[in-house]
Amino acid sequence: MTLAVVLVSPKTPGNIGSAARAMLNMGAKDLRLVAPRCNHLDSGAVAMAVHAADLLRGATIYPTLREALADRDLSVGTSARIRSDLPQPQHPAQIRPFVRAATAPALVFGPEESGLTNADLEQCQMTVRIPTGDYASLNLAQAVLLVCYEFLQGQDEPLDRTRKTATREEMEAMYGHLHDTMHLIGYTDAVRARHTLRLWRALLDRALMNSAESRLFRGLLRQVQWKVEDAAKRGTTEPRPGQEVEAQSQD
Ligand code: SAH
Repeated sequence: MTLAVVLVSPKTPGNIGSAARAMLNMGAKDLRLVAPRCNHLDSGAVAMAVHAADLLRGATIYPTLREALADRDLSVGTSARIRSDLPQPQHPAQIRPFVRAATAPALVFGPEESGLTNADLEQCQMTVRIPTGDYASLNLAQAVLLVCYEFLQGQDEPLDRTRKTATREEMEAMYGHLHDTMHLIGYTDAVRARHTLRLWRALLDRALMNSAESRLFRGLLRQVQWKVEDAAKRGTTEPRPGQEVEAQSQD
């Protein structure tokens, strides 16, 4: 398993350096920065990284979270807050088996002041919340330490290596396809699309599809699109004679 730590728009070099150190302590090596608001190789960052300076220098910068997650097969968001309009964050113990079973999981952390946005969390299949006292907002690097500890060094679970989950790129392509199809058939409109798709993403992400299953689903969407476009051309939804056979052909 190669676990990536993704810091979304971090502001303070010292936090990035401390996060790199925490990663090395816990056995993670792949640091990804999405649109950082400071120079991650600033002397303050390197000083806080201590022996993890090489890990820090090896960090990859991405313009968007979507690109940072593209090759991952599981994305886990982190949040100090419970948000009414998103699925509830879970205890690390509930999420650990999924991370352990993944080949290329990502842990996603938010900016120091505001945390992850809803749009960021929508790109995560599950969200973890470290239990705390009344003051729930941990320092970014301390959150990285605790979450990496929970998933890399915490209590062992039997490994399930039999399942290969689709990459986030494949899933995002599928959601793009679903979005287009929903518009085509009038299932949603520009005003409701985001909310509708959020509900469907939550449902489909829970399925932890593999690549073949995501292609299967897209095969269905392609057939719906073809049927609607063909009917629009011919001015009827009645099947052509012998069309049913064609309609069965899936990916
Ligand atoms: N004020 C923000 C917290 C930002 S702290 C908020 O209320 O959401 C910076 C980041 O550290 C968060 O985005 C999250 O990634 C992580 N973090 C902080 N506290 C956490 C907690 N209790 N559980 C999980 N992640 C936490």
